[in-house]
Amino acid sequence: MKAGVVKETAPGERRVALVPDAVTKLQASGIEVLVERGAGEGAWLTDSAYADAGATIVSGAELYRDADVILTVTKPASDAVGLLRPGQAVIGMLAPLIYPELAATLAARGVTAVSLDRMPRTLTRTQPMDALSSQANVAGYKAAVVAAAEFGRFFPLLITAAGTARPAKVLVLGAGVAGLQAIGTARRLGAVVSGYDVRPASKTEVESLGATFIELTAGVSAIGEGGYARELTAEERQAQQDELVGHIARHDVVITTAQVPGRRPPLLVTEDALKAMGAGSVIVDMGASALGGNVAGSRPGETVVTGNGITIIGADNLPASMPTAASNAYSRNIATLLDYMTSDGALAIDTSDEIQAGVVITHGGRIVNEAVTRLLPAEVNREEGSDVDGTAD
Ligand code: NAD
Repeated sequence: MKAGVVKETAPGERRVALVPDAVTKLQASGIEVLVERGAGEGAWLTDSAYADAGATIVSGAELYRDADVILTVTKPASDAVGLLRPGQAVIGMLAPLIYPELAATLAARGVTAVSLDRMPRTLTRTQPMDALSSQANVAGYKAAVVAAAEFGRFFPLLITAAGTARPAKVLVLGAGVAGLQAIGTARRLGAVVSGYDVRPASKTEVESLGATFIELTAGVSAIGEGGYARELTAEERQAQQDELVGHIARHDVVITTAQVPGRRPPLLVTEDALKAMGAGSVIVDMGASALGGNVAGSRPGETVVTGNGITIIGADNLPASMPTAASNAYSRNIATLLDYMTSDGALAIDTSDEIQAGVVITHGGRIVNEAVTRLLPAEVNREEGSDVDGTAD
């Protein structure tokens, strides 16, 4: 089997799906690796490093022609989708709950789509393949570093001959993988840190990092499917937003990481909260997206300064800004999954397997993932490949 590593094309994307170390390991399992010329450049990985590890460097056209499995970080751009052929597989973070129509297109083209962001995350054996966690970990670290770099004062308590600097007060909203890493990093930089989440289980995790957990009197507890948060009702959301205003106003730096799978990010920092903050405060919105973010007025990929002097950083793709660390971790995730799904030198699709049931999105001309099917009109799976049994191979 030949696996092909693409050069990512999304604006600002500097990660690469596989690093040279993983090339050597995959070759040892009998998987030949093709690398598109310049694929690792953004992460400071040269073509010669890949060639030394045993990969063959090819053009984009050769890659799509010869590879059995295409390895990507993010979803393929539309011109790349046009190059994919029936029977070929693509493995990456394809965000099928956000782009179900891409899944429909891939199914129609007879492409097998495998999405790392649909990995079941509570099984111990999936942890080495959990790309959401590995990338969130990088993003949470970088969010705290970006906030510290933008903030006009020190994070730690500093006592010098020129006076005493009080420590920065940092609030992290959303204490999942990214939030906990942001809390830990801000603490290591010396800030006084608080954390908040709608999942009560996060209280002990926040406190174990030496931060204070904020409990709202509104007492919203919102656990959804698979241990994730659920979307709040309109009343719960209003109560949460109103009560958070006072907490946000007491802090110098706010880092927001709140996400609900498949939904637009919840708004946590409202216009009222922004008005209540002091000039010079910094907000890093990791929820920033084209659909809106956790912070009123944040814009993905942009830094906005409000009229009252609050800097809002729309940090939509922080892992791409730490491309080497993010690629190293992602490479481990994707190589482990590829190895797991390979049997007798070929990709062995079996959606009765607990892991594959999560990650395999399309196969045999059909969308085989129920969560994605639910988002599409009923006729999609009937029109495409209706004579093919796509549930298992
Ligand atoms: P995520 O990226 O989906 O969301 C980030 C955080 O935002 C979550 O903690 C969520 O509870 C929180 N959030 C959502 N809506 C909110 C709101 N309105 N207000 C405040 N906070 C809100 O989450 P994640 O980091 O991917 O983690 C999700 C869950 O998966 C967590 O329970 C985590 O511990 C769990 N997880 C488990 C494993 C494992 O068991 N191996 C691995 C990774 C993650």
